[in-house]
Amino acid sequence: MKLDFARADMTVHRIIDLEAPFLHAMEMLPALTPQLLDENRHWLQDSLDESDAFKLCYQAYLVRTPHHNILVDSCLGNHKSRPRPEWHMKTNDSFMRGLARLGLTPADIDYVMCTHLHGDHVGWNTQLVNGEWVPTFSNARYVFSKREMEWASAEDKKVPLAPYQDSVLPVIRKGMAELVEDNYALGDHVRLLPTPGHTEGHVSFCFGRERDELVVTGDLIHVPLQMRYPELNFARDKDPELAQKTRRNFLERYCDTPTLCCTSHFPPPSAGRVRRWGDGYRMDYSN
Ligand SMILES: [Zn+2]
Repeated sequence: MKLDFARADMTVHRIIDLEAPFLHAMEMLPALTPQLLDENRHWLQDSLDESDAFKLCYQAYLVRTPHHNILVDSCLGNHKSRPRPEWHMKTNDSFMRGLARLGLTPADIDYVMCTHLHGDHVGWNTQLVNGEWVPTFSNARYVFSKREMEWASAEDKKVPLAPYQDSVLPVIRKGMAELVEDNYALGDHVRLLPTPGHTEGHVSFCFGRERDELVVTGDLIHVPLQMRYPELNFARDKDPELAQKTRRNFLERYCDTPTLCCTSHFPPPSAGRVRRWGDGYRMDYSN
């Protein structure tokens, strides 16, 4: 299984927390028709299980620049109370083994950067120690979009949001959070790219000194079928019109460039280069 990629003076590594079927294709992409699904079935073998549920990979990307170890997103985490059965009170060690495979411990992470604040992207931000949620990456600065944080904290005041309570607030309380604007950059290797629509303040992160050698998408796209048809929204995209626009703009921006596009949920190998396919796009995994 391909887990490691090299680009210019950086390496990027997939850290897998869980692979599991999610929703049925029609439920996940409400505008999808049985006919369109059948027309595309021949190239979707890795994406669908036997009951036509989309299989998702829940993974983080660990980017090693010449200066920092940067973790983009932190998956589901363990012991979190969540509504989906495969997310709920999970206790596997896949994520920690993924770090250890690279000779790293959580203390070696310099930055954790979150694309948005959903439960499958902030989970390992914290872990349960003596009944308390404490930041997992003890030496890290945690980077969050300010707009996403404003939205989440306002929502949390109406009805408490479990991922915000157990995976974000403990980091803020320890003074380890940095709330950043759209023009955020870290040195000359890391830049933020606003990609709103799935959530209000959703962002992607771009890496590379002279150009975007790689980009971590977050949830601006969930499954490969949305590359061929960028107008197919995920049922839970908060602003469907904006999500469509962001998805197409993003794919067009990187289409036929060498940039490695690292998706959060595509089946393995999950990261490739964007190529044109008719009116849409496809992923080229030849790297
Ligand atoms: Zn997600």
